[in-house]
Amino acid sequence: MKAVYIEAHGDVGVLQYGDRPDPAPGPSDVVVRVGASALNRLDIFTRQGQRGLEREFPPPLILGGDTAGEIVAVGDGVSTLGVGDRVVVNPRLACGVCQWCGSGRDELCRRSRFLGTAMDGSYAELVVVPEVNAYKLNGGVSFTDAAAVPTTYLPVWNMAVRRAALQPWETALVFSASAGVGAAAIQVFKNVVGATVIATTSTPEKAELARGLGADHVINYNEEDITQRVREITGGAGVDLLVDHVGADVWAHGFRALRPGGRYTICGATSGLRAELHLGLLFSRQIEIYGGYMGSREDMRQIVASLNRGVIQPAIHQTYPLANAADAHNDMEATNFFGKLILQP
Ligand SMILES: [Zn+2]
Repeated sequence: MKAVYIEAHGDVGVLQYGDRPDPAPGPSDVVVRVGASALNRLDIFTRQGQRGLEREFPPPLILGGDTAGEIVAVGDGVSTLGVGDRVVVNPRLACGVCQWCGSGRDELCRRSRFLGTAMDGSYAELVVVPEVNAYKLNGGVSFTDAAAVPTTYLPVWNMAVRRAALQPWETALVFSASAGVGAAAIQVFKNVVGATVIATTSTPEKAELARGLGADHVINYNEEDITQRVREITGGAGVDLLVDHVGADVWAHGFRALRPGGRYTICGATSGLRAELHLGLLFSRQIEIYGGYMGSREDMRQIVASLNRGVIQPAIHQTYPLANAADAHNDMEATNFFGKLILQP
């Protein structure tokens, strides 16, 4: 099969397009003919060997996590899926047997592995995954839309829907609407929860796209002060909940934008890992902070059910042929996009 793989860490020049052996399923695995794969920032870190993702070569590693496609082979022990089923893949493989996996909080599994970092991923014509990581799609959902979902929707669901429990009468602030997590949060908060959504972005064009996804208010952070605009929009109250996937650059703005008792949810820190926390304000304003990393199997089931019903509509920026994965990596690093970047074999 054709695949995009690396034999060393580095810049986009290490991405190789070529032939790799077809994967064979283990007893509880399915083989998926990839219809689409979505890029994530994790793919860049894996390629570079940053953030704890350094590995030893050989063997080569096929990159890629989020994917959707059609099942073409199943292991002997597979009972819930069959050849011809259309599926979307949760790229985080939990161990299935630890205390957390057994209690329904498998997002806390310490022995989980990630498709495309610890094992061959989905930048390929075929990918093998455990049966429990594949979720059936109905015929109305494209592979492109489905592939765009798992890694961006899971943390939003985990933090803001399940744990911090955003409510329809509340107002949420979403940082950087153009990134995958930002676009996902707008869709979930508007179409699933029914909350009022304030989004931040950097250009008038991106602001228009954010409104199209469902944002009620958009703040252009290059021209407006986020804290002041949030105060104006909320009548001085502050927001009930916010979603941060940017990190150091927005932490202080976000913290000030919360009402007393507000919930700060964070699932990424692309702009920097360290920030200063005012402990006095944390307790006197009774702020709650939620960290999120992917989500549980039950979160994924609920997300796919919403996708199958047409309740959520992922934002897609551009689709690239698999052979042009380097172009997609360059575009992601240039951060000049709105929504997901998709590879198609
Ligand atoms: Zn586990």
